[in-house]
Amino acid sequence: MSNFSLLITNWYRQNGRNLPWRQTTDPYLIWLSEIILQQTRVDQGMAYYEKFVRHYPTVKDLANAQEIDVLNDWQGLGYYSRARNLHFSAKFIQNELDGKFPQTFKEILGLKGVGKYTAAAIASFAFGEVQAVVDGNVYRVLSRVFDIDTPMDSTAGVKEFQKLADELISSEQPGEHNQAIMELGALICTPKPVCEDCPLTEMCLARAKQTITNRPVKSKKTKVRNRFFHFKVFSDQGKTLIEKRTEKGIWQNMFQFPLEEFDTNDNSAISSLRDNQSRESAEIIHVLSHQRIHTVFHHYPFLPEERKEHWIEIEHEKIQDYPLPRLVDRYLEENTID
Ligand code: SF4
Repeated sequence: MSNFSLLITNWYRQNGRNLPWRQTTDPYLIWLSEIILQQTRVDQGMAYYEKFVRHYPTVKDLANAQEIDVLNDWQGLGYYSRARNLHFSAKFIQNELDGKFPQTFKEILGLKGVGKYTAAAIASFAFGEVQAVVDGNVYRVLSRVFDIDTPMDSTAGVKEFQKLADELISSEQPGEHNQAIMELGALICTPKPVCEDCPLTEMCLARAKQTITNRPVKSKKTKVRNRFFHFKVFSDQGKTLIEKRTEKGIWQNMFQFPLEEFDTNDNSAISSLRDNQSRESAEIIHVLSHQRIHTVFHHYPFLPEERKEHWIEIEHEKIQDYPLPRLVDRYLEENTID
């Protein structure tokens, strides 16, 4: 075992958080936790993990669930493609693999929505396979300890970091090693690191060279797309209209008020949405990883005679029976439909 691995696993045994998905080797539960924790903080993900374990204790329960229920349970977490992929893969495991969760890194990688990081995490935590994880926390720790200035988001960087992680991983305790390095990145070697509590201070090159704040290096800036959403909130006698988002992209298969999307916030473009009976909300900006959604809700005190085929008329109070994007749900927490 490398000195690096020894130091971090000793530290982890004493300082690692006691999280529920660390108390199991059931690959299904580990997979659930890993998908929930992608782009979600542990404190926020915990309640969702517990809810999913309660509602769908086995892969069979998840496979047999209706997609609308799975999306409803996911509501508030965002990035709904994760929930759809979970459900899709549960059905695949149940129907194509006789309910047996795949057992190797390679096979796990075949599940929809599972990338190299998640496959390595499940394979090492559940089956003790020697597969090193490389996630944002690992990039930070390795770039600092070894003072690596290759951009982590370049092809060369991805290869270099993976190679280094593969060299460092313990072949005796790969799962614990992976947990330890990620935990160190989450608790100690954070963007503002707490070096005095770190087990790697002696060997940390970035600390010695005072390059910590410049590690890891990133080459690209994420391009952000601006989108302009205008929701039409019709209301009459306790009824409103909603529609299902069927197109690929954000919020697929979720429900929303009838939407018109524009590629500009130019006032003249949206003038057709205004009439003397309508009122509108202030603009709400919802930030996703690659998109900024500028949203206005237009309220109309009537239901239109002319309707699109896919619009569904429902009672106001039934709207929470449908999986809604967090943006819409949040708006309804503070505003009534009429
Ligand atoms: S010494 Fe500081 S910078 Fe280096 S690995 Fe530890 S916490 Fe990170």
